[in-house]
Amino acid sequence: MISFYSTNRGVPQVDVGQALLQGQAADKGLYMPSAVPTMSLDLLRRARDLSYSQLASEILWPYLEGTFSREVLDALCEEAYDYPIPLEKVRDRLHVMRLDQGPTASFKDFAARFMGRALGRLVRERGGELVILTATSGDTGSAVASAFLGVPGIRVLVLFPIDEVSDRQRQQMTTLGDNVATVAMSGKFDDCQALVKRAFADPDLHSLSLSSANSINIGRLLPQSVYYVYGASRLADIGNGEKVVFSVPSGNFGDMMGGMLAIKSGLPVHRMVIATNANDEVPRYLETGRYDKIEPSLVCISNAMNVGHPSNLARLVDLYGGRMDETGVLQEVPDMDAMGRDLFAVSIDDEQTRETIRKVWNDHRVMLEPHGAVGWAGLEAFLSKHPRHKGDACISLETAHPAKFPDEVRNITGQEPPLPPALAGLSTKPERFGRMAVDYDAFKAHLLAEYDR
Ligand SMILES: *Cc1c(COP(=O)(O)O)cnc(C)c1O
Repeated sequence: MISFYSTNRGVPQVDVGQALLQGQAADKGLYMPSAVPTMSLDLLRRARDLSYSQLASEILWPYLEGTFSREVLDALCEEAYDYPIPLEKVRDRLHVMRLDQGPTASFKDFAARFMGRALGRLVRERGGELVILTATSGDTGSAVASAFLGVPGIRVLVLFPIDEVSDRQRQQMTTLGDNVATVAMSGKFDDCQALVKRAFADPDLHSLSLSSANSINIGRLLPQSVYYVYGASRLADIGNGEKVVFSVPSGNFGDMMGGMLAIKSGLPVHRMVIATNANDEVPRYLETGRYDKIEPSLVCISNAMNVGHPSNLARLVDLYGGRMDETGVLQEVPDMDAMGRDLFAVSIDDEQTRETIRKVWNDHRVMLEPHGAVGWAGLEAFLSKHPRHKGDACISLETAHPAKFPDEVRNITGQEPPLPPALAGLSTKPERFGRMAVDYDAFKAHLLAEYDR
């Protein structure tokens, strides 16, 4: 059985069930698997013939063995992953992998739908009640709310920055009701995330059984390793070691960490391109070795990536033998050379983002939205710097549906992005949400009043 340790090393290791239920470790560290299971050569060869849900079950099984039966995991994956994952060719061997076909039209459905089902089952088996506390910059909130809606024994509270989410993103979370409550904060995403993190570490709130569905929860990362294997298996001969290039539009770096776990488990990858918007603290860190948070984070059109201090950076540093605490202070320096060989980090500003949407539409009739465009521009930047990779299979992740950002996409391409069923009819549903200023004491009082049993 694979156990999980905290990146701060201040608490004993736990099993996967406890890691999922706790979210953040009590020492404010993030859980990491004590061993990353290796995918067998046989699995790498068979991967291309497996459906997405079959592949997910194969990859997740070593982590969950001993917690769920294989039958339960198979059923869970089959239920969670019932939508298509198109690989859209842009040119040559360059593709966009559309992770935007789930029920809330963002890639966060992949993790949220797994977590909703896994946590629902754990709560049923282990008893008690769980409160999922989530800060969102737009898409996590709706994915989590949709995935946990109606799950018995679990209540969800979503905090979102009122001025930073689009109308559609807000409507997706505020029109559900039932066990899902939402609060609009007057601050920024980073403020929401800071409140949530502080609540997790607050001993006065331990009676509440709080857990997180943010990417601080390892339950977000494990399922996010699957689509890397899926995409690579469809475009390259990974069974014979053929390597691919990925480009990942990144904010909190949970998506990228899923890819890093896939690489650790044996997926052949030349390079992970990590593309941020103007919040470029990680590209600068990789270049200079100096880490400076961006406070407050910059507001960019790829709003789900407006993050000035990504929580998963501590995991990346840990993966390369270093240690970073939750405030962003490096306690031990990681192997920066190895990191530089595996990763190519680049920052793409809003102007380049818009230009990329325009160009990819005009030249190839492929519609991107701001996040996917940041990823695509990152891939182009990598290929122009490393032209020897131009013939390799390259996969850029499209993390949201263009219809989530209709104004930008329409202004740039002149096209109305087609509305997927997931987003239809939202604007006519009644919305319900609370409002709060960024004030920890008020937030804590609200939690105790609403969620203490
Ligand atoms: C959350 C999100 C991202 C960033 O993912 P991280 O795991 O935080 O790096 C990118 N694009 C979209 C559309 C998102 O919702």
